[in-house]
Amino acid sequence: MKRDMEIPFVDLHKQYLSLKKEIDSAISDVIRDTAFIRGSYVQGFEQEFAKNYGVKHCIPVANGTDAIYIALKMLGVGMGDEVITTAHSWISTSETIVQTGAKPVFVDTDDYFTIDAVQIVEKITSNTKAIIPVHLYGQPCDMGRIMSIAQKYNLYVVEDCAQAHYAKWNGKRVGTIGNVGTFSFYPGKNLGAYGDAGAILTNDEQLAEKMRMFANHGALKKHHHEINGINSRMDGIQAAILSAKLPYIREWTQARQQVASWYDQKLAGLNNIKIPNRRDNADHVFHLYVIKTPARDEVRMELKKKDIDTVIHYPTALPFLEAYHDMNHQISDYKKAHQDSLEILSLPIYPELTENQVNYIVEALHNIV
Ligand SMILES: *Cc1c(COP(=O)(O)O)cnc(C)c1O
Repeated sequence: MKRDMEIPFVDLHKQYLSLKKEIDSAISDVIRDTAFIRGSYVQGFEQEFAKNYGVKHCIPVANGTDAIYIALKMLGVGMGDEVITTAHSWISTSETIVQTGAKPVFVDTDDYFTIDAVQIVEKITSNTKAIIPVHLYGQPCDMGRIMSIAQKYNLYVVEDCAQAHYAKWNGKRVGTIGNVGTFSFYPGKNLGAYGDAGAILTNDEQLAEKMRMFANHGALKKHHHEINGINSRMDGIQAAILSAKLPYIREWTQARQQVASWYDQKLAGLNNIKIPNRRDNADHVFHLYVIKTPARDEVRMELKKKDIDTVIHYPTALPFLEAYHDMNHQISDYKKAHQDSLEILSLPIYPELTENQVNYIVEALHNIV
């Protein structure tokens, strides 16, 4: 086997080189203006992002985890409440529910790695306050069904969009459908900073004000601490970098979708490899391209021998993490999420990945299975 290629799982440096001038000057502007925390660059990004999404309010925060926590907390979620979410996500989704004092109630997944909306109703109790759909891997959830359940049972909807920047469901951007959309700008995300950063979008003015206050030590005006808050702010440098990158997000999203369709075509029909299902009526932005294979661990090892990096997102479904051991979850209640956790494998995907590289990965997979 030829060894002419080494394919990292993500390649953030390649993107930096393509934008070096803009990024370097964004960083030095912030330093020149000593606008390190909050300030004009943060305000600039916040306005651009809200405008871009056609949403009234954007609250910049320290990271995507805080974004969920702040939203839940200001929606009044707390002790004695239950919040329904998917059994398959990154820990932030359930971790923040627990941080508020509420109980996470998990629902098994559907054929798209997202919450099975059909099973939500049977998990609703008189204590249920909110639903957190996670648009995992960049694929929108079944928002039609989720929103009608939320309306019928009077529940809040916090969309976790950490992996789904600019994805659309039924023509609408995810993050603008529920009460609140939360975003992460962790470096590897579809829109990534050079450190931690996050944001919350909403059209609800009162809620926006509360979230802004809570994230800023409970104050909208310096020294006027109206409530007990937290310190969750976006750095000026991160905001300036995000503003420099924002004009390219559409192009990058299309490039990711191109990579995904190369994989789809080239892997179609390959024995023992299942390409990801795409939901009708949804514009999947492919933060991750996740295949399923029963021989996952061997396939991963063989790819590694050919210098192809892969990752498992995530090796354990949320209900079965050690952190939730006391809740005594049964595999029979989360069959799909559990089975998926044994078979999923994320292949390299980023806007800069070339068709040549995809061919190399696909050829390696053909040789393995
Ligand atoms: C990345 C991520 C988060 C949290 O974002 P951070 O900025 O890392 O705190 C939340 N939910 C999901 C699904 C994520 O992938």
